[in-house]
Amino acid sequence: MKKKYGEVLIVGGGLAGLVASILLVKKGYSVTVVEKKSYPFHRVCGEYVSNEVLGFLKRNGLYPDFLALPSIDTFEFSDTKGKAVLLPLDLGGFGISRYVLDDWLYQTAGKEGVTFLTSTTVTDLEYLEEEDYFQVALSDFQTLRAPIVLGAFGKRSKLDQVLERPFFTKRSPYIGVKYHVQAEGSTNTVSLHNFQGGYCGFNAIEEGKFNLCYLGNRDQLRQYGSIQEMERAVLWKNPLLKRIFEESTFLWEKPEVITEINFERKKPVENHLLLLGDSAGLITPLCGNGMAMAMHSALLVTEALEEGNTRQEMEERYTQSWNAQFYQRLGVGKAIQGLFGSGRGSVLARNLIQQVPFVARTLVKNTHGQPF
Ligand SMILES: Cc1cc2nc3c(=O)[nH]c(=O)nc-3n(C[C@H](O)[C@H](O)[C@H](O)COP(=O)(O)OP(=O)(O)OC[C@H]3O[C@@H](n4cnc5c(N)ncnc54)[C@H](O)[C@@H]3O)c2cc1C
Repeated sequence: MKKKYGEVLIVGGGLAGLVASILLVKKGYSVTVVEKKSYPFHRVCGEYVSNEVLGFLKRNGLYPDFLALPSIDTFEFSDTKGKAVLLPLDLGGFGISRYVLDDWLYQTAGKEGVTFLTSTTVTDLEYLEEEDYFQVALSDFQTLRAPIVLGAFGKRSKLDQVLERPFFTKRSPYIGVKYHVQAEGSTNTVSLHNFQGGYCGFNAIEEGKFNLCYLGNRDQLRQYGSIQEMERAVLWKNPLLKRIFEESTFLWEKPEVITEINFERKKPVENHLLLLGDSAGLITPLCGNGMAMAMHSALLVTEALEEGNTRQEMEERYTQSWNAQFYQRLGVGKAIQGLFGSGRGSVLARNLIQQVPFVARTLVKNTHGQPF
């Protein structure tokens, strides 16, 4: 049985795909990762990692302890007018760029024996019922075959369209913009500054740098014609954001930008494809734990492959454990997002944090999992 399902092909080498590849190769599976880009590269992400993954990373030799990473134990929240409140974070986290983290995991996976096809896109895949095998088409016109395929291709991929996943046709107003900057700031604090239509995260990462990343609105971008004009007209209305933008040294010529960030429900298993990380469901960025969920889903899928004796058992185990860990969190994250990005909502949220910190801490807890 193990022989039959001993080969795994992973589509997408972000956190979910990379971590799954390492866990599986260590268990004796033969693992290939197909990634459309080549490492190292930047991605839109707030780069605050929840400590729920710390023990897991350290136990598995996946924590990059050659770096002095900022430890974060405080949350700062400002409303659209720039009135701010601080909240201690019970679990906390650390800051690290995806440029460094993903490349570290890629190098580690390579050393463990994972095969990589980088700068290669999966253009199509199909489960062949009679043969109980997948057939996978690549951008270089190769075709691969594998008994198990993990979909770790992120929040939105052309493959979602090919697979006719229902969320793909629903338009989303959200855009994501990210910079790395040199700035003055508390290295132990992750800040969320609201502006009309969105919110902006700010936290320290490695080498004294800061991540400045926001979730904005496509209509505002259209209205103001450029990212820069939109930032001045919309984000700078929050005086704390204006100060960060004016006083920081921007380290890149242009920001990383993505569009169509969609928080619709998805499924963890579709057409026998086991889906990990954002491919199975994207939590709203304000929760600051999409990365932790991506890594945790890699562990859950490894356990399901190890414990299930048949394809059906693997799929059922993975669906059950994925739902138990993540289903509710995604819903809470989406509900809380309603309080963000508007004048009234952000004032309400600030008052809540200030006056009933217990409730705010409970909400934070409900969007996070237990350390694993
Ligand atoms: C604005 C914003 C801010 C965020 N801030 C935070 C934060 O501070 N903390 C946090 O924990 N989370 C945050 N998140 C969420 C976090 O970025 C994601 O949850 C996390 O990156 C998910 O990892 P993943 O491996 O599922 O996907 P990804 O990291 O997106 O990896 C998917 C990979 O698949 C590849 N790929 C796609 N299609 C194909 C294909 N057809 N063939 C081959 N390869 C393919 C892509 O190139 C990519 O490398 C934020 C998200 C957004 C949008």
